[in-house]
Amino acid sequence: MERNLTCEAVILANKRWGDLHRLVTLLSPTLGLFEAVVYGAQKGKLAGGIEPFSMGTFYVYNNRPKKGYTLKDVDPIIMHGGIKGELANFYTASALSEIAMRMHGGDFSELYTLLRSCLLVLDSATIDPRRLLILYIWRCVRIMGLEPDLTSCPMCARLYGEKEILSFNAALNSLCCKQCADVNTEDYAWALGPGARRYLEFTQELPEAEAVLVPLSEIATMRLVRYMVRYMTAILGWPLRSLEGGVLLETWI
Ligand SMILES: [Zn+2]
Repeated sequence: MERNLTCEAVILANKRWGDLHRLVTLLSPTLGLFEAVVYGAQKGKLAGGIEPFSMGTFYVYNNRPKKGYTLKDVDPIIMHGGIKGELANFYTASALSEIAMRMHGGDFSELYTLLRSCLLVLDSATIDPRRLLILYIWRCVRIMGLEPDLTSCPMCARLYGEKEILSFNAALNSLCCKQCADVNTEDYAWALGPGARRYLEFTQELPEAEAVLVPLSEIATMRLVRYMVRYMTAILGWPLRSLEGGVLLETWI
């Protein structure tokens, strides 16, 4: 087995490892989700390249006896500060990373492509980060194989009416018709209205950079981002730490 490996990756997390070292979590289309130790106090390219949301080409050494990786070098993709300079963007990027780390199932290559594209959009464009979180969660659900269906109920197979409000089945983690729901259907929290459904259908196949530009009213954005966070929380089984107690919680949730 080759011990020196080169991979495309994005840094999802970075924490202290002993007094001098760092432990980073990476997502790569080829190596999947993995941790690597960065030994010593780093300067220059490597120090900048291991900050959360950094991406590029990473050179790692596979210490097989210790069953771990050491990060040796990086050729970073230059970011322009759109994530770090805007608090809402930073929290959104943290939520995207946390979801990627906690997702179960799915193809790492698809997830990497989605995350990379979303982080680049967040870094380079002036967009509403809530719309990016909406589309990211929706696409992650699909990558996990839960295939949200906006045209018919997955339980009774009935086609949804044009003006129908969809409900939710928590046992299946799936959208469904009101009759097949196991949540309180009087509770507005799990209702997905026809406008939101049209928006999701319309943006579903668009590239990320285009999808986030599709207009959505303030009230609809707020409702839909709350709905998506609730949806992802139901799938993951517990709340997203990156959205707890942060600015987003006050402005969004
Ligand atoms: Zn049904």
